[in-house]
Amino acid sequence: MTLADDQRMIRAAIVAARSASDADVPVGAVVFDADGVEVARAANAREAASDPTAHAEILALRAAAKIYGDGWRLEGATLAVTLEPCTMCAGALVLARVSRVVFGAWEPKTGAVGSLWDVVRDKRLTYRPQVRGGVLEDECAGLLEDFFREQRA
Ligand SMILES: [Zn+2]
Repeated sequence: MTLADDQRMIRAAIVAARSASDADVPVGAVVFDADGVEVARAANAREAASDPTAHAEILALRAAAKIYGDGWRLEGATLAVTLEPCTMCAGALVLARVSRVVFGAWEPKTGAVGSLWDVVRDKRLTYRPQVRGGVLEDECAGLLEDFFREQRA
């Protein structure tokens, strides 16, 4: 996949992020098949669902696995997300065997795909997806900045 492909995927994730509830931090995730066709998308819904695990990535992986691939395996798939995944989501991406992870904004405080940890590329793991981070970083970070500015106002 080229950078332009990844930018298209992140744009889809930005659209997904905008569908988050007013109370939820706007993070969006989209799963694409090996040909780059969208399979499933989701927004962070921790508040809306009263569920600490309802991160966008988890919801998108669950939805995608129902309709794509061999049962729970998402081999060949790319997950695009507007924010660097946390430890839970990075672990889930490895368990789901996605082939690629593309993300927008870096998350230096909790990021687990290169910032604070690098869970998905830990050499002790046998399955390691490819990663491209920082795609349309400013747009993705802007979503979050706008949200937190409104929260404070
Ligand atoms: Zn997460």
